[in-house]
Amino acid sequence: MTAEPVIDTQDPTVAAVVPPTVRASLSPSRAADFKTCPLLYRFRSIDRLPERPTVEQARGTLVHAVLERLFDLPAGARTPQSAGDLVAPQWDRLVTEQPELATLFAEDDTAGVAEFLRSAAGLLEGYFAVEDPRRLEPAEREALISAVVDEELLIRGYLDRLDVAPDGALRVVDYKTGGAPREAFEARALFQLKFYALVLWRTRGVVPRVLRLLYLKDAEVCDYSPDAEELLRFERTVVALWQAIEQATERRDFRPRPSRLCDWCSHQAICPSFGGTPPPFPTAGDGDPLTDARSRPAAPGADE
Ligand code: SF4
Repeated sequence: MTAEPVIDTQDPTVAAVVPPTVRASLSPSRAADFKTCPLLYRFRSIDRLPERPTVEQARGTLVHAVLERLFDLPAGARTPQSAGDLVAPQWDRLVTEQPELATLFAEDDTAGVAEFLRSAAGLLEGYFAVEDPRRLEPAEREALISAVVDEELLIRGYLDRLDVAPDGALRVVDYKTGGAPREAFEARALFQLKFYALVLWRTRGVVPRVLRLLYLKDAEVCDYSPDAEELLRFERTVVALWQAIEQATERRDFRPRPSRLCDWCSHQAICPSFGGTPPPFPTAGDGDPLTDARSRPAAPGADE
């Protein structure tokens, strides 16, 4: 099994340049979808069915945006007040860029929007309870990172934040803003962080010292330290997962796997586990994941 560095940049136009051997790409979110429920993977990655954003996802995207901008400020100015001041302008920017977000609230529902903005500010309080951003200088924020594994598979995704210590040690930080029970999503979150750790190891030759989940709602930190052997095993898991996806695609066989996560699934109405019928399988090239190597993975916070 081989891997080579490809891209480590925030520039998606550079990210579009991938080696000709690459046949497909996989992001941690989509890989986790398949692990969670193959049919969910199909609906999202092959059928590409739209999912109406939820208030919770929008709040996650907003909080991620604020935390990214916060580090644009000089260190001494990164206060709870400054973060709070960023909430409304960042929401306005997001709504301009993603007009579908505006549909979450009725046009005249100013009280609903105000409550939503207050709830985002509440999550930021959770952030300040666990970190002091005045003492941090992140090396990267919302960075698109990628590597090729097994010569044909591009693995990539957006890191929320990467901290580099003076001795070169790496810490990958992921902000979790969801209100769903943590235990329902913790395995998925750790899978995502190991995915980033694997990319960093393969591109920089350094195993990240810490993978950190910051649970903003609970103001809690969850640290995990991987080692090279574990990442090697994880790499094999990712490749095996991809082979399983290829096989399922060839056979057009993506089965539902009901779990607690069904409560957060947008596709119950067309899921056989809930009495629904999936749409006909798309024809080749129509959302075929093997031709997906150059599309843009979901941005941080979009998958909360
Ligand atoms: S409702 Fe559950 S079983 Fe059905 S597609 Fe969604 S996650 Fe899978």
